Amino acid sequence: MHLFIAIIYLLHLSSGHSEKEYSLLLISFDGFRWNYLTETHAEIPTLKKLMESGVYAKDGLKNVFPTNTLPNHWSMVTGLYPESHGVLDNYIKDPNISKPFIPKFIQPDYQNDPRYYDAGGEPIWVTNQFQKSHGRSGSIMWWGSENLVKFMKPTLTMSYEDNILFNEAVDTIVNWFTSEFPINLGLLYFPEPDSTGHKYGPNSVNITKKIEEVDNGLKYLLAKLAEKDLLDDINIIITSDHGMSEITKENFIDLNDIVDPASFEYLGSGNGPYSSLSIFPKEGKLDEVYNQLKSQSESKNYQVFKAEEIPDRFNYKHNKRVPPILALAKPKYSFILGDVTLTIGGNHGYDNEVKDMHPFFIATGPSFKKGFSIDSLNTVDLYPLMCHLLGLHPAPNNGSMKNVSQLLQEGPENTIWTFGTYILVLIVIGSVGGVFTVAACRHHRYLKRRRGPLPATIKYSTPGGAAKAALLSADDDDEFDDANDNTTDDKMLELVTTKW
Ligand SMILES: [Zn+2]
Repeated sequence: MHLFIAIIYLLHLSSGHSEKEYSLLLISFDGFRWNYLTETHAEIPTLKKLMESGVYAKDGLKNVFPTNTLPNHWSMVTGLYPESHGVLDNYIKDPNISKPFIPKFIQPDYQNDPRYYDAGGEPIWVTNQFQKSHGRSGSIMWWGSENLVKFMKPTLTMSYEDNILFNEAVDTIVNWFTSEFPINLGLLYFPEPDSTGHKYGPNSVNITKKIEEVDNGLKYLLAKLAEKDLLDDINIIITSDHGMSEITKENFIDLNDIVDPASFEYLGSGNGPYSSLSIFPKEGKLDEVYNQLKSQSESKNYQVFKAEEIPDRFNYKHNKRVPPILALAKPKYSFILGDVTLTIGGNHGYDNEVKDMHPFFIATGPSFKKGFSIDSLNTVDLYPLMCHLLGLHPAPNNGSMKNVSQLLQEGPENTIWTFGTYILVLIVIGSVGGVFTVAACRHHRYLKRRRGPLPATIKYSTPGGAAKAALLSADDDDEFDDANDNTTDDKMLELVTTKW
């Protein structure tokens, strides 16, 4: 019995859980393109310091389609593609819900039906609070965290505010990490540099200035964490939802010149510009609207799909919320529906293969390597990575640890202990098997002496049965882990209020 308990204990140690539990802070700066980090005129000493003291992705994150804010933030925290988590876009319509989903940055007072978010995905704060008795999460403006999902919200939340300063958000979350009942998971969303990117374009001096403000905000964060003596105990992931592509008035596609406006409705507010549009033809008008759109798609630089024609690689169409028709502009082009005052600016939401759509990724802290980089990772890999960092078993997801595991320190919890404990387990199993074998042989000889030769029809059970059972449970443990693997003074950062 003692041997059995020892085996179970050793298998538990070998399952990859760290002895030391670190806190985790996930920060998202909306619309921070991957190469704002490396191809910029901005002075970014703090971001460079973070890259040198931690890990980063040279080509950024491969995000999910559509490359918009809400689907990507929900994919970060659930590890699921939009067709699996249901937050298909910034605007959504569900056939079983009477009101469409409208994002808070368009209509702050609008009450969205919580079922739009609670549609199958398990956000990291639910996993954290469900699995850990001391699991406490804090969310500052993270998209979706205001909703009950699986009957839970983050332990502490701050709702979306248009005029919040980054440094104020930092003060709040650092207080949460150091309170009498501290959080072990913090999520911080900030709406810049997206707003500035939309208004002035990604190549503007305004973006350069905004990136310097982001850098200054991070300097403040690190100073606060150092002041509270937290830097050695917290892992920090700093990333974004999507990039930005420059758009100009010359590349606007006015849908009203292509399709009769009386024959369809679309999800959105205002005349645009839109990189993609969910189109709902009026009854009996599906083919007519589709054919009119299709007839000018090549000459006007966009694609149009009926729901079933949407490419599988978008991981988007297998959901009841998919629109009957999806129109998708090519990068630098945008749909409008009437007059728009903008002459030059930025947009996102295009094909997620387009490099300008990819966001940046930096991570630092005791669990990460120092001065290490990889080419790219997937947005859906963040959930299993965060679960690993927090010692949680991930809910089923579309991400993988395969690519991200190389970012981690080869600490005791990742390799040596695991290998050593497996060896120990094998030694224990071998010993148990050996004892059984010797005992069986002795018993066999004893019986032989007493009874003479056995009749040919009687067979002994395999002496190594117990060892075999223990090895099977070790294999089962491996399979479980594998299944789970698959499965952002005067420069203070503030928000430019013009956005869409
Ligand atoms: Zn945006």
